[in-house]
Amino acid sequence: MTFNRPPPALISIVVPCFNEARSIPALLSKMNEVLKSEWQFELIFVDDGSTDETIELLRSARAIDRRVKYLSLSRNFGHQAALRAGLAAARGQVVITMDADLQHPPELLSEMIAQWRAGYDLVLTARSPDSSISFKSLTSRLFYNVMMRLSDLKLDPGSADFRLLDHSIVKILSRFDESSFFLRGIVSWLGFRQSTIRFTPHERIAGKSRYSFRKMCTLALDGLTGFSIRPLRLSIFLGMGFSVLAFLYAAYAIYVKFILLQAIPGWTSVLVSILLLGGIQLIVLGIIGEYLGKLFIQSLGRPPYLIASQELED
Ligand code: UDP
Ligand code: MG
Repeated sequence: MTFNRPPPALISIVVPCFNEARSIPALLSKMNEVLKSEWQFELIFVDDGSTDETIELLRSARAIDRRVKYLSLSRNFGHQAALRAGLAAARGQVVITMDADLQHPPELLSEMIAQWRAGYDLVLTARSPDSSISFKSLTSRLFYNVMMRLSDLKLDPGSADFRLLDHSIVKILSRFDESSFFLRGIVSWLGFRQSTIRFTPHERIAGKSRYSFRKMCTLALDGLTGFSIRPLRLSIFLGMGFSVLAFLYAAYAIYVKFILLQAIPGWTSVLVSILLLGGIQLIVLGIIGEYLGKLFIQSLGRPPYLIASQELED
């Protein structure tokens, strides 16, 4: 590989943590192994309103090594907001974001940095296809397929929040003030020189996924409605399709009543059509409501996260 850039002057590694007290010690020792001594780096942990000993662990890690820095959000704002907070605090020439649970192999760091030196501004990672068939991986694959159909984004179904960003990209991201921040979508929308490294994720080191089903649904909806207005158009087509069906059915009913002269007893058919149309109307209303709610939240203009305390000095 030919290098167009000298080694980065400072590498920032941003790690969002939500109740990761059981993962942090292993992560720290792994980092000690893989971070080369010639690299200048800072490890920025973002405590996303954890209720376990995450913050105490970070404090004591910092007491040993000043390159460990942290900021603590005032409550749980969610992974995307925590990432934003970490990116805003990072000062490195390259910024790498990764999970606390060691599912993102730190061994890839040197490969990512090599790609940056070769000239890429964004080095993304993606899980190798079909590493598992869990509920989560199936639903996420489904989401990416729907997402790509509904928007013009090209997203790798294995996309992970493990990526390297050049500092110029981080600066651009700080100008985004959308309230439903979906970094994976935004990154793909940005352009610039991007490369993707494939990896096989490890098992989570401790505990369960911090992404509850609800958080996953919110993220999926934000991703879909943040990058496309096609769902709104979909409602028009749904409405038209069902209007045609309703018209045909009405014509049939009139034919039965006035030509065949047999009014149909029983209200099953009436009930079915009312239920069906009611359902469609609710779906369409929901889609409109989702966009309207987004406008409302955005119009409030609230900050995406609040910092309760931080230790960021060298
Ligand atoms: N996380 C966070 N806030 C949340 C949920 C998760 O900061 O509300 C962090 C979590 O601690 C981890 C990363 O985001 O470092 C990814 O979460 P997780 O590993 O639970 O997601 P998964 O790997 O299951 O997609
Ligand atoms: Mg994980």
